[in-house]
Amino acid sequence: MNQKDFIRFGVPLGEATRRATDFVSKFILGGGDKSRLHEEVTAIVANPSGFVNDRLRGEFARALLKAPPPPRAEAVKYRQWGDGLEHEAVMQMEKACLLPVSVAGALMPDAHVGYGLPIGGVLATDNAVVPYAVGVDIACRMKMTVLDLPIRDLEQKRDRLTRAIEAETRFGVGATFKHQREHHVMDADWSVSPITKRNRDRAWSQLGTSGSGNHFVEFGLFTAHGPITSADRELPPGTYVALLSHSGSRGTGAAVCDHYSKLAFSQFPDLPSELKRLAWLSLDSHEGQEYWEAMQLMGRYAAANHALIHQHIAANLNAQVLLDLENHHNFAWKERHVVDGVEREVIVHRKGATPAEKGMLGIIPGSMASPGFVVSGKGNAESLNSASHGAGRTMSRKAANEKFNWKDVNRLLRDRGVTLISAGLDEVPMAYKNIREVMAAQSDLVTVLGQFDPKLVKMAPGGERPED
Ligand SMILES: [Zn+2]
Repeated sequence: MNQKDFIRFGVPLGEATRRATDFVSKFILGGGDKSRLHEEVTAIVANPSGFVNDRLRGEFARALLKAPPPPRAEAVKYRQWGDGLEHEAVMQMEKACLLPVSVAGALMPDAHVGYGLPIGGVLATDNAVVPYAVGVDIACRMKMTVLDLPIRDLEQKRDRLTRAIEAETRFGVGATFKHQREHHVMDADWSVSPITKRNRDRAWSQLGTSGSGNHFVEFGLFTAHGPITSADRELPPGTYVALLSHSGSRGTGAAVCDHYSKLAFSQFPDLPSELKRLAWLSLDSHEGQEYWEAMQLMGRYAAANHALIHQHIAANLNAQVLLDLENHHNFAWKERHVVDGVEREVIVHRKGATPAEKGMLGIIPGSMASPGFVVSGKGNAESLNSASHGAGRTMSRKAANEKFNWKDVNRLLRDRGVTLISAGLDEVPMAYKNIREVMAAQSDLVTVLGQFDPKLVKMAPGGERPED
């Protein structure tokens, strides 16, 4: 029997075929009847579980059970928002839609190449979670609070506001607080996964910090076009001072992603190379459940980071909070959607995409010198209730570092009235798409309720390894 025969009998390529070959040799060497080989292989393929403890047939049977289901012959259909998206990002989305567990998808107008699923990719799966479709920085998120400070402070008290940011959060890879912050998230059960258990102390020391990459804390002018209601508070239309932050679950979230993506890879060593980075964990498996619980904890932890940053900065400035709102963007949710005409529960991954269920508030930032927007979702079913999570990069960090110089950037910042406390050249506005074009491309996904214009921006200084 050769490989062609195995394919004919339904043996998947890779490890299963290798073990099938071993079985055939051992069977013949052991004096087995050659004429019965077809019958033997057919029986094992039909019911591998029945042979896992068989001395001669066990390895082959176990390899069959571990073999990944074949990719879909045809990609799941998905809609794309925005024109001129990076070809490679679109290809990544196409591949994700070939996964046997994929059931629906959508590509947002800020899409660009990511690891596995593109940033701006939305992927719905059947009872499975894909660690690289959630992303490395699990539960990366946005939070905005509107403060009762006079608007003139944005011009006249920039030093005071700068000191508040510098005192109340930390930037940079591995940044920690010497005197740990307190938050009840540290009382949660961190033993849901060995990774969160092992990293609890590290997570505590990083509580309230911001990290690196595209993470920021900034003050700006917020204009509410109409009344905005969030968490029982209503903000009347007008202009305000607001604080906006973007960061995630720091080193612990990255460790969770690293561990469970490797576990997923190891479960499917024979996935075709273009799908390898999209290896998934079944939610029926122990590993899948552990990842899901760890992801939920990282969601609470990332939210705690933002809560502390905002609470401490407001207290530092003796300011009252008039409104606050927030959303994750690197996360997976159990949601009900209509798939192939039938409503059912699916796992929706939004990697660098904002949840935009009807009436749900979200924040879509621009760049350090371009406006961000507070939006209300329209619940567009084709987008799986999603929107972009920002403007999206136009070039890699490396290309931006090579192309731009601070002299030009500083001129642009001056023109737009933005003071930059620190950042890397790879985060300059010119490295991003035009946010207004991105918003125009998703007018059927969200309604704009207000605009945030950055005035005082802090990011990790240049040269840091990005964590986003
Ligand atoms: Zn983010």
